Amino acid sequence: MTIISNRLQDILATIQSAQQKSPFQQQVKLLAVSKAQPSTAIREAFVAGQTRFGENYLQEALSKQADLTDLGIEWHFIGPIQSNKTQQIAQHFAWVHSVDRLKIAQRLNDARTDISTPLQVCLQVNISSEDSKSGVAPDALLELASAVNQLPHLKLRGLMAIPAPTQDLSQQIMQFKRVKNCFDTLINKGFTLDTLSIGMSEDYISAINQGATIVRIGSALFGARSNKQELLS
Ligand SMILES: *Cc1c(COP(=O)(O)O)cnc(C)c1O
Repeated sequence: MTIISNRLQDILATIQSAQQKSPFQQQVKLLAVSKAQPSTAIREAFVAGQTRFGENYLQEALSKQADLTDLGIEWHFIGPIQSNKTQQIAQHFAWVHSVDRLKIAQRLNDARTDISTPLQVCLQVNISSEDSKSGVAPDALLELASAVNQLPHLKLRGLMAIPAPTQDLSQQIMQFKRVKNCFDTLINKGFTLDTLSIGMSEDYISAINQGATIVRIGSALFGARSNKQELLS
């Protein structure tokens, strides 16, 4: 067993036990966040059984994808999206978690016309308004979701959020509850959603307890990233 495969087994066991204790009894999937990790680490995790990988930076992702074409990886884009990157993102990823405005959604849709499966998308919600610029405000979410739902080459699957980092457990839970409320509100309005993408290495157990269906885990699986500051910007 390699270090990565050991960590993978531990994380999967932790996810399993958290989902059994969750009041929602939901199925939870692991997205391995491989930003700043070399292709060899991704290959190692894949061989150990992990098939979904998340990347934040397009150029970095494209170069690793080129190394790994022999594997059946399901690639998820989870980083901020500039409009000049939408063409390649729509062509090279199965999922995008970070759609937060209609213009980007329309461009992704238009770039997906020649692929038969729609691009699976989550809308990124800004639940910690102070410091984050990314994400749609909760009060603008319904309008964006309605518009995205009309785009034929996108399939709206749910919501994603990145809570502001906090050591305060009740603050953390509060932020997850806020996204879950947005998610439930959309479902009550008739949207068919099955994905709540919340929870990272430090807080995924708590996220699962609040209803997460995808947890995005990087450092707990691959180890610390070297240039962490730059990569989180
Ligand atoms: C880097 C990143 C993660 C993973 O963070 P870890 O703390 O290393 O698990 C998850 N989601 C997004 C959007 C990220 O940028």
